[in-house]
Amino acid sequence: MLHVDQISAGPVDSNIFLITRGNTRVMIDAGSGLYNKIVEKDLIDLLRGESLNGIILTHEHFDHSGGAKYLSEKFNASLFSSPECARIMREGDPTLTGSFLFGADMEPVSNITEVEGTLDIGEISFEIHSTPGHAPGLISLITVENRHLFCGDLVFCDGGVGRWDLPGGDLDLLRRSVKESLEWDVSTLYPGHGRIETKDPKKEMRIAFSMLQSI
Ligand SMILES: [Zn+2]
Repeated sequence: MLHVDQISAGPVDSNIFLITRGNTRVMIDAGSGLYNKIVEKDLIDLLRGESLNGIILTHEHFDHSGGAKYLSEKFNASLFSSPECARIMREGDPTLTGSFLFGADMEPVSNITEVEGTLDIGEISFEIHSTPGHAPGLISLITVENRHLFCGDLVFCDGGVGRWDLPGGDLDLLRRSVKESLEWDVSTLYPGHGRIETKDPKKEMRIAFSMLQSI
């Protein structure tokens, strides 16, 4: 049985989730790194001495990825992202990661495994959908077992989509990605910011798409 916990994060951090199934534990996003100690403590509590098998980055933005290097080294966990996200992270690009918005430097990260299509980490299998528009490297992950959607900053609950006006953003691509997401079979929506939707995730996604159509 697959289980999802939300990890405590600092005020400018993305949502950070820990997925557990059997002996496998995978973290989705890593926060900005500005509050690494808060994240680390909560993660230690949730892991209860077990190991963290992987960290998947939904995209390259600093609030999601700045903590990746520290946490992956601290917990000896492999890092995964889209090829585009990995390229931007390897360069530590302050513009495309948006680290300049936080007045912070993005430390280059070299050891990221590039993933497309599907990803199996231990007992957890993901479908990976490329969903650019908010950021070039944004992927949406769906757990094969219970169709949980982790979409980073693609859509949010209560009417919202990721910003398309940041460097690397593209409104037409965002519209296309959100439209595509309406075709997916999903049971729960875990966005990169704000609340989770467990009852009617497709409704939240339809609201997000109708907002985009009116722009
Ligand atoms: Zn973002």
